[in-house]
Amino acid sequence: MWALENVRLIPGDGGDEPTLEGILLDINDRKRIEGDIAFRAYHDELTSLPNRALLLDRVGVAMANVQRKKQRLAVMFLDLDALKVVNDTLGHGVGDSLLKMVAGRLSEALRRGDTVARVGGDEFVILLPEISREADAQRAAQKILRTIAKPYVLESDELHITASVGVAIGPRDGATPESLIRNADGAMYRAKQSGGNRFELYSHVGPGIIGRTAQEAELRQAIDRDEFLLYFQPQVTIDSREVVGVEALVRWNHPERGMIEPAGFIPVAEQTGLITVLGEIVLRKACQQGVEWQRSGCLVPRIAVNVSPRQLYQRDFVGMVTRILNMTGFDPHLLELELTESMAMQKSDRSRAILKNLRGMGIAIAVDDFGTGQSSLSYVKQFAVDTVKIDRSFVIDVVRKKSDQSIVSAVLLVANQLKLRTIAEGVETDAQCEFLQERGCREIQGYLISRPLPADRLRRTFLRSATARAAV
Ligand code: C2E
Ligand code: MG
Ligand code: MG
Repeated sequence: MWALENVRLIPGDGGDEPTLEGILLDINDRKRIEGDIAFRAYHDELTSLPNRALLLDRVGVAMANVQRKKQRLAVMFLDLDALKVVNDTLGHGVGDSLLKMVAGRLSEALRRGDTVARVGGDEFVILLPEISREADAQRAAQKILRTIAKPYVLESDELHITASVGVAIGPRDGATPESLIRNADGAMYRAKQSGGNRFELYSHVGPGIIGRTAQEAELRQAIDRDEFLLYFQPQVTIDSREVVGVEALVRWNHPERGMIEPAGFIPVAEQTGLITVLGEIVLRKACQQGVEWQRSGCLVPRIAVNVSPRQLYQRDFVGMVTRILNMTGFDPHLLELELTESMAMQKSDRSRAILKNLRGMGIAIAVDDFGTGQSSLSYVKQFAVDTVKIDRSFVIDVVRKKSDQSIVSAVLLVANQLKLRTIAEGVETDAQCEFLQERGCREIQGYLISRPLPADRLRRTFLRSATARAAV
């Protein structure tokens, strides 16, 4: 019970006694609101977890403590790998529910005394205020990754999501709470660049890493300066080794660091939304290249271009593709778009409509990295795609590993029944090629045939002249 009293002394007139005049206010509501405000100043509204301000305070306290006790502490920066895709495809309501579930799981996975804070849209920081060895933090990070990766049941949908985690150990990896968190963030970024669903220690990646905002700025600049170019990798039939397609693979020709592969910048582009700009550049360059090859007298095969899920759901993706085809004059029947088998495509009417539109224009659709996600071939059929690309990870061990053999065989069997084109990625040896051929695979792509090549080298080595064909 809270009350506010305000009393004043009124001096007596003449010989009168002085009197007290006052008011007594019931301020329970006000106290409750003040408490709310204090809570809100230090907690995140959606998940009720501590926010950055409270986290900084707790990391500061923990640093002082471990210094006294000659102990260590761990700060883990966690970033969800695909929340933006969930938001873009299933709506922010679903994204918010997912975040609350993630917050709940993180809190449950940790010990009393540990802190989980939400510091950004899909970013969490975990403080283990006292550990004795770095291995303790590694174990905790493993456990967190496992917890996050379990399926989420939301309404009737089952969602899968993974996280990337960066670990910094205090006081060794940072002298202030801010620098510890920043270094954990940098290590997280490295984990994300290596494909996500993993953790990385700051002590392993060191101070050479640059932060995300710097990377984003660099990427923007690279776009302005037109530093991206395409390599092309041939796709051939197994039987006759005829080149039936080429896949366009983007490279960043960095003025100081040289040629950078997609793993070094696509994740940043996806995170920051720059992928929509970059994707458009890639598509335009691929179509321009196709037309240029034709002009130089070559018989141009189908050109496959990778599209990330965020692009598919950008505003008016179909309009963008149409514009580029019109502008460059490239034949849509020679274009194939590769979509990864991602959860974004599960049960989504919107993606089905987009794909239908694209196919209506004559564009082929391929499912990239098939076998790595949760989807089945029935899902592929539902989406009416043209091509299934069997992921490299199955091809690698297809000669030795029974389980990979049966997966690949089953995929090929069903795909052929559904009359889908099948292409195996990452074929490096004749033995792999033979196995695939025996099981009914029609096409291959991989180092066995060629690495990705610059445009003119690909033309010289793999493209036939259009007139030679006409003469036959
Ligand atoms: P992906 O679409 O699955 O492309 C195939 C990757 O496998 C390419 O790597 C290629 O160089 C590599 N590869 C091909 N044959 C072999 C082989 O025999 N052995 C091995 N070990 N690797 C082989 P790259 O060029 O580094 O691209 C990696 C990924 O980056 C691509 O995987 C794709 O997901 C993404 N990517 C590339 N270009 C683009 C793009 O323009 N847009 C988008 N959104 N993603 C892109
Ligand atoms: Mg691809
Ligand atoms: Mg692939």
